Amino acid sequence: MSRQDELDRLKNEQLFRRRFLRTSQAGRYVSIDGQQLLNFNSNDYLGLANHPEVILAAHEAAVKFGFGATGSPLLSGYTSVHQELEFALSEFLGYPRCLLFSSGYLANLGIAGALLNRHDLFIQDKLNHASLLDAAQLTGARLKRYPHLNPKKGEQQCQKFNEKHPKREILWATEGIFSMDGDSPDLFATSLSADVFNALLWVDDAHGIGVIGEQGRGVLEQQSLSHEQVPLLSGTFGKAFGSAGAFVVGSDELIETILQKARTYRFNTALPTPVAAANLKALELIQSEPWRREKLLELIDRLRQQCQEYGIAENLGNSDTPIQPFILNSESAALETADYLKSRGIFAAAIRPPTVQKNQSRLRLTLHHELEIEDIDLLVQCLIRNY
Ligand code: PMP
Repeated sequence: MSRQDELDRLKNEQLFRRRFLRTSQAGRYVSIDGQQLLNFNSNDYLGLANHPEVILAAHEAAVKFGFGATGSPLLSGYTSVHQELEFALSEFLGYPRCLLFSSGYLANLGIAGALLNRHDLFIQDKLNHASLLDAAQLTGARLKRYPHLNPKKGEQQCQKFNEKHPKREILWATEGIFSMDGDSPDLFATSLSADVFNALLWVDDAHGIGVIGEQGRGVLEQQSLSHEQVPLLSGTFGKAFGSAGAFVVGSDELIETILQKARTYRFNTALPTPVAAANLKALELIQSEPWRREKLLELIDRLRQQCQEYGIAENLGNSDTPIQPFILNSESAALETADYLKSRGIFAAAIRPPTVQKNQSRLRLTLHHELEIEDIDLLVQCLIRNY
């Protein structure tokens, strides 16, 4: 198939992507393609991207250190701000050591590459993020995916592999909160299953850290898991921190291995120092302003309760997190509903394959601190009117 045929196919199958041009901050409202819209399409869950203290911290670091990090963290890119951020995150998450990456995508490629080789096994939940699946491909390890939220099946996959190759490594990765569904695995059960065949459990809690749990430590806090049960935990600064970059925490030995071997660490310019400073300030605010999480919970409750009241709750997924999928099945229904909402002044993303499975197209409604209760009510009224 020629390139043009492939582009035509994407258009015909309603899978063609186009970007929305934003010309304002992304807060309660956002200017998209010249139109001011209510914003249900932001991962800035706590509203920290526009926080004056975050912006000031970045500005001050830029004045002191310059903007770019000037090199890989193994050359000239590792500053005292990066180090302070690593220390603060290890302490916040209760792990011995932390390593920063330039993005969650790169972190996932680097972590897997450092820990696995092609003889090993990589176990993953079927709905894991693309970066984890791509990471598996890059390592060349055998990839086995178990049905969503079913770790017992993962355990059986470990058993088969272990019978044939008892000495080889098994890495087991799951998201903490699934990015398109907003649901979470039972991490206690997952850690027990991983433990049976000595698999190393890694939780990518990109959407949970900062948001979930009373202190914002993510799904591990919510489900009361220790770092013995989950030896490797990663997250991104691109969501609740309102910024950019990513991190992984673990034992001294694991983190040192990743530092020494991850190619996306070694061969990548370090996070700009102002970004590291913004992340450090955001981490401080995550701890000192718990009311941001409390308001978010109120918004989530309101959406679920309103959908219940107006008879559209069956479209919602099983999520008590800021990610609220509104399942519409067909690609065209998802696109038409997103267009209708836009005509009513609401910005919500239509999510289609390959991001989700066929016939699972949806609106991915993301709630965040800047929204108000009346915004949720307006959204629900528009959703029922479109029915
Ligand atoms: N992991 C998960 C679970 C994610 O949802 C995302 C972002 N969508 C990433 C990793 C990638 O993070 P980043 O945007 O920092 O590259």
